[in-house]
Amino acid sequence: MRIDVVTLFGPALDPLLGIGAVGRARKRGLVEVGFVNPRDFSRDKHRKVDDRPYGGGAGMILMAEPLAAAVKSVRKKSSLVVFLSPQGRKFTQADARRLVKQKHLILVCGRYEGIDERAAALFDEEISIGDYVLSGGEPAAAAVADAVLRLVPGVLEKTEAAERESFAEDGGGALDYPQYTRPRIWRGKKVPAALLTGNHEEIALWRRKAARAATRKKRPDLLKSARQRAPGVI
Ligand code: SAM
Repeated sequence: MRIDVVTLFGPALDPLLGIGAVGRARKRGLVEVGFVNPRDFSRDKHRKVDDRPYGGGAGMILMAEPLAAAVKSVRKKSSLVVFLSPQGRKFTQADARRLVKQKHLILVCGRYEGIDERAAALFDEEISIGDYVLSGGEPAAAAVADAVLRLVPGVLEKTEAAERESFAEDGGGALDYPQYTRPRIWRGKKVPAALLTGNHEEIALWRRKAARAATRKKRPDLLKSARQRAPGVI
């Protein structure tokens, strides 16, 4: 899989996608990440990509033409072009599972007060990472790229499989169970006894109950559909 990010700040974003499982997979050539700078497509001698809004108002707007040319430079028939925007549909793990089936994703980052609306015709979809406003699409592109790329088969090692985590399909979209590591007692708090038994059935039962309790406590909105989607698991 390949992701190209259209951004004015590729050098800032690159290191974030160069660490951990995704970073290792990039080094191995299992996944590719590229950056395209709209400034490289500016027709202005000062490489200007923004201008004042028609109708007045504060701030600057990213011009449509450098964005369109940047997208065109990497777009193929198989590409899916996604604009990161606070006005888009909220990104979920189900979207990550859907997008990982694409061969080529182009993630477009806005900046300043946003982009010229006429550029919207370039995009197949708009994705938001939450109901708040960032200064630019880069943190959102990093979040989407990381969530998608870690699902590419082989990116995660067997020991860090993406099944049995929060929002996973096999758990009906419920939360993960709580995890513990050494020491057995930390500041007077003990590791739950079931996890020390070595009995796989007992451990599995404890984890199922603990995942249900965590979901009920932290995200009760997920519980009903999780029970319907994965009866007997959650
Ligand atoms: N004026 C725009 C509005 O109110 O809808 C906000 C523009 S924001 C300051 C600049 C850029 O950051 C956006 O064009 C978008 O690419 C990105 N951005 C901001 N918040 C985002 C979010 N929650 N999810 C994804 N991208 C976001």
